[in-house]
Formats: sequence, structure tokens, C-alpha cells
Amino acid sequence: MKERNLPSLDLKRNYARIKDEIKEAVNSVLESQYFIMGPEVKAFENEVASYLEVEHAIGCASGTDALVLALMALGIKEGDEVITTPYSFFATASCITRVGARPVFVDVDPQTYIMDMDQVMEKTSDKTRAVLPVHIFGQMAPLENCMKKLASKGIDVIEDAAQAFGSWRRVGNTIIRAGSWGKAGCYSFFPTKNLGAFGDGGMIVSPDDDLAQRLYRLRVHGEGKTYYHEEVGLNSRLDAIQAAVLRVKLRHLDVWTEERRLVADRYNTLFGEYGLLDLVKPPVELDGNYHIYHQYVCTAEKRNDLQAFLAGKGITTRIYYPLSLHQQHCFEYLGYRTGDFPVSEELASKTIALPIFPEITPEEQEWVISSMAEFYGKE
Ligand SMILES: *Cc1c(COP(=O)(O)O)cnc(C)c1O
Repeated sequence: MKERNLPSLDLKRNYARIKDEIKEAVNSVLESQYFIMGPEVKAFENEVASYLEVEHAIGCASGTDALVLALMALGIKEGDEVITTPYSFFATASCITRVGARPVFVDVDPQTYIMDMDQVMEKTSDKTRAVLPVHIFGQMAPLENCMKKLASKGIDVIEDAAQAFGSWRRVGNTIIRAGSWGKAGCYSFFPTKNLGAFGDGGMIVSPDDDLAQRLYRLRVHGEGKTYYHEEVGLNSRLDAIQAAVLRVKLRHLDVWTEERRLVADRYNTLFGEYGLLDLVKPPVELDGNYHIYHQYVCTAEKRNDLQAFLAGKGITTRIYYPLSLHQQHCFEYLGYRTGDFPVSEELASKTIALPIFPEITPEEQEWVISSMAEFYGKE
């Protein structure tokens, strides 16, 4: 055991803050013996719908399933193209291939890591059925300039908001919440997400009544009336225990998000104080965005050596993501090559995610940054 350790995420500290509430909530599910969907899931769906100010919220088994279900519900299939980013978690692209469609990648912005929305319009073709932007690391993609153009071409927007629950963007006088902008918004409640369950979970939100009805059906084997199937769907439901946990956490989420933003601010300030800004580029928050800092991802010179040095001190960092999606072995058949998306590829070799969670202390953050200064010989 090292003298000191700092994990990249410490869920135990978060649990300690809400232990009693969680135990009571889970216990009531145990007493009810109602484990799959039911009143607890319905209540959570209603709370999410009102939090996000969107008409429908449909719980499901994971963020990956949320994406697959959204694509299925929109009828996206073989022969169709979906435009997305190569700089994201694997599920962003795999969901497209799972329904038989083809992911068409667009490179990202080097400062925000968000899909470059200007390039999106250039990549549309008569096969494009949807655009799937990712609100990567908790900050929303600036969709305002393409929403109308895409709509006029009949192209739907499906938001991958798996890392961005509670994030929003101001457009004119309107606040738009992550997931509520497009035809469907997809969330993950994987335990490490900023709104995380105690197991897998996911949700799709949508303003569209017909789409919602189809989603309710698709998550239960395409069933209409019990044992009568309109189409073939998935078995993808949210557990009542997870919903109970998530209902407790949702009540605290805004406070935790503010804490995350303070943590990010502190890192930004410390980089300046330690004279590191020529070696490290902190994440950029776009004008009008309320970034929830699901991750605090910067780019750093000599990234791999830096990560090893920090690990030697007991500080755990993460690499999101070490290999762009167009370079994944399983997507070789798409015909992309190294060099096709230079920004995404460069980020894969330069980004490092520093420890971030609401409960991290200022002392721990200073330890991280002073250790980085030591690595770069700035101390
Ligand atoms: C986590 C994540 C997913 C998948 O969610 P799961 O609940 O793990 O299936 C999809 N997209 C992004 C961007 C994610 O971060």
C-alpha cells in the first residue's frame, strides 16, 4: 500500500453521503418484491421527464440499449447511414452497426473534443437517416446551426447524452437540456456515470408520442397486448432497484454537478499557478454551455510518461479514448484508414483524464497538479 492513493473516481465517498436514503429506498423495493419496471420505474421516468422538460422518458437496461432502441424505433436499418464521431465510447458506433446501418465518421474539434458540426453537413448523403452527436465528457454539442438544415433533409438527430445528464446549452433565450434537443436522447446509468445506478441502466427521452409508443413496445419484445407481438424487440428493461437508487441520486444531482464544476475550476486555476499552461491544455467550455464535467480531460505533453509517473505516486488517471473508433479492428470492413481523422487520432495519444468526482478535496487536487509540475520539472 502506498502512503496516499487517489482513485480517478471514488464511489464510496459518494455512497457515504446518501447511505441511509439509499437503504430505505432499496428496502422498500425489497418489501414490494416488484423487481422489473413497475411503479418505481414509472416514478423515475416521470421525474426524469420533468427534470429534462421532455414529454417521454423510457427506461431500459443500459445506455447501449438506449441507443440501439432509439435507432430501431426510427426504423434505421441496413443500407442507411448515420453520421457520428470517431472519438467516443465504443457503443456510440456499435449501436449503428447493430441495426445493420453504417457509421459515417466526422472528425472532432481539438479544443472541445466534440464532433465538428460544420463537417456534418458535408457528409450527408441520400442515405443519411440520422446524426448521432455525443455530448462528450459532459458538454453539449452546439447543434443550433444544423438542426434546421438536417430537419429539412428529413435527417433525425439522436443525442448520445450518456455522459451528460444535467448538462445544458443556452441558445438565444432558451435553455436546452442534453438529450431533449433531438428526436431522441439516450442516457446511461452505468455506475461510473455522473448519474450512476448500482448496476446497468439506461433511458431514452423523446418529445415524439409515436416514437415513445414504439419504444415502450420495443423494450419488451415488441409486445403490444401481453403475449401478442407487433414486432421483434429486445428484452431491455430498467430494474426497480436501480430506479429506486436513481431516484435518490437525482434529488442530489444538481448539488453534485455544481461541486464537479468547482473541481474543474480549481484544476484550471492550478494549471496557471504552477506555470503548466504551455504543456497542458485544459478542457474548453463553449460559450453558452453548462458543462457538467463528467470527466475532466486535458491534453498533455509526454502523456504516457506522465500517466506512469502519476501512477507511481498513487494517482490514478484514465485515457479516454486510446484508439479512435474508425481504427477499431471490428470496424475494418468500413474501409477507414489511419490518418482519416487526424484530430481524433492525435487526441487519442494526448488526452488524460484527471481524477474528478464531487467529493475530491482541494488538497488532493493540489497534489495532482503539483505532481504534474514535478514531472515537467516545474517545481
Ligand atoms: C457509457 C456510454 C455509453 C454506453 O452506456 P452503457 O450503459 O455502458 O451501455 C454510450 N455512449 C457513451 C458516450 C458512453 O459514455
